[in-house]
Amino acid sequence: MILILNQNVSEELKNDLRKEVTSKGLKIHESQGEKTTIWGLVGDTTRIDEDQIGIHPAVSEVKRIQKPYKLASREMHPEDSVVEICGRKIGGGHFDVIAGPCSIETKEQIIEVANDVKNSGAGLLRGGAFKPRTSPYSFQGLHGQGLELLLEAKKATRLPIVTELMSTSHIELFGDVDVIQIGARNMQNFELLKEVGKLKTPILLKRGLANTLDELLMSAEYIMAGGNENVILCERGIRTFETSMRNTLDLSAIPMLKKKTHLPIVIDPSHAAGLRWMVEPLSLAAIAAGADGLMIEVHNNPEKALCDGAQSLTPADFDALMKKIQKSVEFFRELR
Ligand code: PEP
Ligand code: MN
Repeated sequence: MILILNQNVSEELKNDLRKEVTSKGLKIHESQGEKTTIWGLVGDTTRIDEDQIGIHPAVSEVKRIQKPYKLASREMHPEDSVVEICGRKIGGGHFDVIAGPCSIETKEQIIEVANDVKNSGAGLLRGGAFKPRTSPYSFQGLHGQGLELLLEAKKATRLPIVTELMSTSHIELFGDVDVIQIGARNMQNFELLKEVGKLKTPILLKRGLANTLDELLMSAEYIMAGGNENVILCERGIRTFETSMRNTLDLSAIPMLKKKTHLPIVIDPSHAAGLRWMVEPLSLAAIAAGADGLMIEVHNNPEKALCDGAQSLTPADFDALMKKIQKSVEFFRELR
């Protein structure tokens, strides 16, 4: 249930309403917009009589939300959410690009790529230290050592870093990470979602390979219900009957998610197609469809990459793409 409060409601009336709601065992989640204050009532809302609460002098409107997710819903928070990462912003008209290799391999590799993507205009550096690989015999990442190298690259470039957390048992290693990625395969690892919900670190939540948008939003809800509202959604391609690409990028997810939620949406064209030459058209299409950011894999030597070389751009290709991205973002910003 959502309560839209009257404008300029007094603190006294608000307190009175708060008492009434909390006495029924419900928690209040307040969203303060420019003009309106919205309360999301979390818990068993059947204990509240809609008509009775509707006549409280602090209340302007009562809405029962049918959707199973509340905190993530647009109804709860009509304005776009803006997630701040070390002074950079994603969402609500702020666009940014996350770039870097699939995996951190060596100090030279990550520092070189970090400098290159920074010089091309990327706002955040990505790199995996814990890699979810289909085969147990494939490179699994450098783990703790990889995180240390990523932190060195952060120090060298001052770019905030994005890296994947695969297990609750590694969480204490992620204290200096600026954005924690929950990968596609862990989108419904509910224990992991609950743990990152206890943090304040922004979370990049990737859509599962075969998950619906409502399932993605329920996973976001897990994180938000724990108290971490800094969630960025990521569409990275889904399983379809098409086999000529690694996955099918669901561009329709962008406008549909914009309707359903206030959370920012980042598109990952690299994992979507799995093909280097498709990264540019998919990036530009994502901007046209309203994405708040892109995540692009870049490697200094894609042919020798230990993971996802076929979809990784060279730093030169990335530089050329960034110029087109920047122009497209400006063009569509004016058009909207
Ligand atoms: C990644 O970003 O490196 C990754 C493994 O992505 P996904 O979880 O989308 O496959
Ligand atoms: Mn990858």
